[in-house]
This record gives sequence, C-alpha cells and structure tokens, in this order.
Amino acid sequence: MPQPRRTAIIGAGIAGLAMARELCCQGIEPVVFEKSDDLGGTWNYDPMTESDPLGLDPTREVVHSSAYLSLRTNLPRQIMGFVDYPFREDEKGDRRTFPGHEEVLRFVKEFAEEFGLRRLVRFGCEVVRVGRRGERWLWVVEWKRKRGEEVLVSEEIFEAVVVCNGHFTQPRVPTIPGIEKWPGYQIHSHNYRVPEPFRDKVVVIIGFGASAFDISRDIAKVAKEVHLASRSPEIMVMKVPNHDNIWQHKMVKYVTEESLVAFEEGSSIHADVILYCTGFKYHFPFLETNGIVTIEDNRVGPLYKHVFPPSLAPTLSFIGLTEKDLIFQMTDLQCKWVARVISGKVKLPSEKEMMASVEEYYQQMEKNGYPKHTTHHLHFKESEYCNWLASEVGLPPVEDWKERMYVESLKSIFSMKDDYKDQWEDAYWDAIIKDASLSKCT
Ligand code: FAD
Repeated sequence: MPQPRRTAIIGAGIAGLAMARELCCQGIEPVVFEKSDDLGGTWNYDPMTESDPLGLDPTREVVHSSAYLSLRTNLPRQIMGFVDYPFREDEKGDRRTFPGHEEVLRFVKEFAEEFGLRRLVRFGCEVVRVGRRGERWLWVVEWKRKRGEEVLVSEEIFEAVVVCNGHFTQPRVPTIPGIEKWPGYQIHSHNYRVPEPFRDKVVVIIGFGASAFDISRDIAKVAKEVHLASRSPEIMVMKVPNHDNIWQHKMVKYVTEESLVAFEEGSSIHADVILYCTGFKYHFPFLETNGIVTIEDNRVGPLYKHVFPPSLAPTLSFIGLTEKDLIFQMTDLQCKWVARVISGKVKLPSEKEMMASVEEYYQQMEKNGYPKHTTHHLHFKESEYCNWLASEVGLPPVEDWKERMYVESLKSIFSMKDDYKDQWEDAYWDAIIKDASLSKCT
C-alpha cells in the first residue's frame, strides 16, 4: 500500500487540533473540517439547545456541545494539558485548579495559536460523507457549507482520514417502564444549560457520573426537590448531607401516567421532570465503510487499540474514543502514534495480527464480565494503554504523579463531597510535582 500523505481530519476539538499539530510535525499538512465557526468542540459553550430536549429526533438541528453554563473541569488542570504543552494558569484567566469551561477554551485556542493550526481549519464545513473511492486506499470526503440560504456541497479526495468528531453529542436514553404515558418533561443533560427552567419543580436526575453530580447541585439551588437515581451498586438510599432538597435513590423502576416515579428500593414520588445524565453514543453519520466498521451496543469495531480498523489501516483512524481516562494526555498520545504511522515512521503489525489483538481484547472483556457497551472504557488499564502508546512513539511513560492525581480526582468525584473542587490540596500536589521534576533532572 502506498504511504498516505493527503490527510483529512474531521473536527477541530482537542483531538482534531492535536492531530493537526502532530501531522505538521511529520511534514504532512492536513485539512481540518469543522462544522462550527470556531475551535474547541465540547469546550465551545453554546447557549442554544435542540428542538427535542431528549436529543433523539433525527431531523433536529444538532447542537454539538453538551457544556452547561456552570461547568467546571472535573479533573485538575495539571492533568488536562497535552503531553508536552501544560494547561498553565493565565494571569487574566480563571486560575482555579478546576477552572470553568471558558478557561479550557482559552487554553485550547492558545494551543492552536502557538502551533499555527487555525489556518488549517475549514470552518463551517460539515462532513456529510466519507466513503472509499474505487481503489482501496482513497477516500472521498464530501462536505456542506452554508452561505446565507444557500447550501454548497463539495467533495475532495484524501489518502487518509482521521475521525475526531467527539462522542458527547448523541444522547443515550434508557427505556423506563411506563415512560410513554408519563406526562412530565424529559430532557437529556446534552440539552441542559442553566437551572432557571427547573425553578420550584420536582426533578428526577438519572445517572451517577460527574454531570449528574454537578447538575443536581446546580438545579437544587432553585428546584423544590431533586431526586438522584442510579443503577450503580454503590448508591446509598438517603437524603444527601448538607442539602435540604436532594435525595439519592436506586434506579427508577417504573413511572405512571399520574406522574408517579417509583424507585427500585420501594419509595416513590410525583415528579415534574426527568433529566437523563445517562451518557452518549458513538455516532459517525457520515462514514461509509461497507460494514467494515460497525457500532454495536456502543462498541466501535473492530479497532486495533481503539484507533485503527485493521483492514483499513492506516488510512482510516479514530481519535479519542477511549473513555474515563486522562483524556487530553491519551488523545495527544494517540495523535502522536497515528501521525507517525501515517507518515511511515512507525509500522503497524499485519492486518491479521491486529485482528487477533482485537479478538483477544474482546475475549478478555467477556472473561472479566465487562458488558459490550464498555468496550472503550479501559477498565483500570489506563496507564498501561497510555504507556504502550508512549513507547510506540519513543516517549517515556506518563508521569506517575499524573496517574495518582487522576485516581484521586475520581475518588473525589464519587465521594460526592460538594466542595471537592475548592478543597483540593494544591500545596500537597505542588510538592509532589516539584519532587518528580527534580528527580527527572538528576
Ligand atoms: P469534541 O470536543 O466534541 O470536538 C469534536 C469537534 O468535531 C467539534 O468541534 C464538532 O463541531 C466537530 N464535528 C463533529 N462532527 C463533524 C462533522 N461531521 N464535520 C465537521 N466537524 C464535525 N474531559 C476532561 O478531560 N476533563 C473534564 O473536566 C471534562 N469535562 C467534560 C464535561 C462535559 C459536560 C462533557 C460533555 C465532556 C467533558 N470532558 C472532559 C470530555 C471532553 O469532551 C473532552 O475533554 C474533549 O473535549 C473531547 O475532544 P474531542 O476533540 O474528541 O471532541
């Protein structure tokens, strides 16, 4: 197969930008297609919401970002930088350890300016089709761009396509017995922006992640009652300490047309709203691979190391599919690896070997009892995966303190302590980071 050169990147969030930088470092100037008018993806807060608050209607105008107005990072800024480009404080910016979303956007834009990436981005260009053209190794990328009322459609041929379109936009909504007759208002966190619409309401929030935690506290400031429900086995049924109006329950068992919401532990309430913080689905509406890459129960596959479909590698790759990890670091490492593979500096195993690796991973998941929809969670092997990527591109393993800080952040998120972002032990961590950098120099 000829070494691909002309490369398209879909998306100008952190993945697309990191990918663009790495390709430039390898002497390949990519074209970055970005459907919005600015950089930053998720971190580009958009006050607009979709016509269908559940985000399920396929005809709706899709809003990309799921950020809400009060969003602060759930990881400390020290582990939200790129491998070689830390997320430093800015004199005039939000200097908190867990800053607000505007500060992350500022950082992402600074990164793009620093490496001259903006000029590579075609803004307002939504990719609507990526398909193979005749020969196996060419891709046709078709995109549309609005000019006033007019929609212009164009296509171009590329030798490689890197998919960086993000995966926090298409809601996943569980089916609840009785929901079709339940008369209340339903919304997914993707369309949550501010608490005001929930003033004086009784709100049930389903989910147990960072968004459920944040949004429940946000809404509780104005709502009459907030009831958190989750399938997580760790959940304790109780009134949440330090709040007059937040309760925790087991999962919703059923709902009725009398607006009743019944929980698995046996209690029930009458609610006005169900807000789903139940996560997102991978979605590549533009991708045509004749069934080579499929999505089944949120498993995108087959993908070697969550990145390359073996039979289409290295001409097609996916960045940032892995979940629950040091996202910026891992994304950056994936980009470094993919750029070197595309440029021919790093070789992939044979197609057969890559398929065998994918099969082995699936078997391992099954053996450990991990459900299919968690395929791209790394199941506590985040550092192993990061370090594997780092070794592929000749970099040292991810610093030990970053792993420790990540684990500590997760513990804080799940401890449900309201003020953990402002109670972070900065001095303790500063000393650890200083020690680590000293030992590196000697
Ligand atoms: P995105 O940021 O989603 O960017 C994808 C880009 O692709 C977008 O600009 C989009 O417009 C563009 N695009 C999509 N489809 C097309 C198309 N067809 N054609 C052209 N362009 C297209 N991570 C952390 O590390 N720390 C946090 O604290 C944290 N908090 C989060 C809070 C929320 C509410 C959410 C939703 C996510 C959070 N994340 C956090 C994860 C976050 O999404 C990642 O940090 C990161 O922004 C993902 O970057 P990305 O480039 O992969 O995707």
